[in-house]
Amino acid sequence: MSTGCIFCQIVQGKAPATIVYEDEYVIAFNDIHPKAPIHVLVVPRRHIPSLAHVTPDDEPLLGHMLYVAKRIAEEHGILERGFRTIINTGPEGGQEIYHLHLHVIGGWHR
Ligand code: AMP
Ligand code: ZN
Repeated sequence: MSTGCIFCQIVQGKAPATIVYEDEYVIAFNDIHPKAPIHVLVVPRRHIPSLAHVTPDDEPLLGHMLYVAKRIAEEHGILERGFRTIINTGPEGGQEIYHLHLHVIGGWHR
């Protein structure tokens, strides 16, 4: 938990979000400013500032985030047509929120 982190607040139920998936390790919710018809963020419950901060202990979590992305794509009906998974890291990577998250984006031609 990081005080003032909006994604920690969403994890704790203290800020609103449209949650589409959750389990012991991650939650996933709709991006508040979607850049495509489907735009979901997969977020670890634990506060990790960015991909630049992960350690070897985080390898299972990182794999889990990708698997959850696949399940979200499946549940939104875009598994076959395809989708994008993006992690922005650091200032030059365009990261705005410093709590690790994976974007799942797609659903353009429906
Ligand atoms: P980035 O850090 O650049 O990978 O992207 C942060 C993303 O978080 C952006 O796409 C924002 O639209 C999204 N975002 C920011 N605040 C919220 C929020 N309260 N709920 C959902 N999505 C958010
Ligand atoms: Zn956080």
